Amino acid sequence: MIPYGRHEVTNEDIRSVNRVLKNQNLTQGEEVINFEKKIANYVGAHFACATNSATSALIVACKALGLGRTDVAWTVPTTFVASANVILQCGAEIDFVDIDPVTLNICPEALEKKLEMAEAHGCLPKLIIVVHMAGRSCNMNAIHCICKKYNVKIIEDASHALGAKYEDMYVGNCAYSDITVFSFHPVKIITTCEGGMAVTNQKNLQEKMKILSQHGVTKDKYLWQQKSDLPWYYEQLELGWNFRMSDVQAVLGISQMQRIESYISRRNEIAKYYSQELNETKIDLPTIDEEKNRSAFHLYIVLFANREIQTRVANSLIEQGIFVNHHYMPVHLQPYYKKLGFKENMFPNAEKYSERGLSIPIFPSLSKNDQKSVINHIKILTQ
Ligand SMILES: *Cc1c(COP(=O)(O)O)cnc(C)c1O
Repeated sequence: MIPYGRHEVTNEDIRSVNRVLKNQNLTQGEEVINFEKKIANYVGAHFACATNSATSALIVACKALGLGRTDVAWTVPTTFVASANVILQCGAEIDFVDIDPVTLNICPEALEKKLEMAEAHGCLPKLIIVVHMAGRSCNMNAIHCICKKYNVKIIEDASHALGAKYEDMYVGNCAYSDITVFSFHPVKIITTCEGGMAVTNQKNLQEKMKILSQHGVTKDKYLWQQKSDLPWYYEQLELGWNFRMSDVQAVLGISQMQRIESYISRRNEIAKYYSQELNETKIDLPTIDEEKNRSAFHLYIVLFANREIQTRVANSLIEQGIFVNHHYMPVHLQPYYKKLGFKENMFPNAEKYSERGLSIPIFPSLSKNDQKSVINHIKILTQ
């Protein structure tokens, strides 16, 4: 059996976790702060806020940017449902922007057109959540220029893109956005079992996210509205949640981060080999960008001519134990979103892509033999 993605936990990871399990603090200790520093340093952002999932990180990111009941926010249909759900969970109205059929990321031209229209109708979004699909960065420079014109805030959902680069800088340095969010679910680039992180260069946003992910409560004296010398004193300033990551998870993340560069190079190596070996087939393959825009290759997505071939190849591969997957059915066509009024043909690029795309196995420990077997099966099935 070959899955489409798989985490890796080493003996060293296990030793680190064991060490923390014997610590005084299982949660709210030093390791969470160390992990926040580790990720912020690696991606080149000033501040970080660890959470129990990327979904939680997206919620506190939206909240910190002020998203609420009278607002609108946009994302793309080609993403995991969480990127869209968080907008509704903040009480805001949602809309989508179609993707570019080649990059599978938000289409800057479509974004610009939609913002022009929204301004004319007086319904500009407060923020957009862009998604670095499969680990390839969006065109952040273009998105930033367009959003600046309309005063729209930007959140990067980089759940797929830890270790990816854009213009020679790591995704997450927030040069073109307000907040970037990463996921540490086992299928993603590194794992903390469950976990997420929001990074930003704006101190006030990090403070807000920290408070929101700890019940709205703070022990930081300089944020208090009342004076107190009581040693147990804390203040609730917001209505928050318990979105905390534990120290056990954080130390697993720190240990995994030692291998981040080798993970990304291995994923790129696998991608290159697929691209070389499947080049002669009728399948469309992802383009491999130069190093300064390197993808994290969380996913390797091939495109078939139509849904019929996509389904036939997927079913045959699964029958042979090659567990390919699909990312994603357009969010606006999920029954929940259809009930909100979204319909077919509203975002044609996302819909067409969904009928063609297939995620084939890619993960650091995928062996050459297993990869060759995947390639051979695909070649035979598409002849
Ligand atoms: C995995 C994923 C999420 C959710 O991450 P969790 O850590 O499981 O909450 C959000 N957005 C995208 C694009 C994802 O792939």
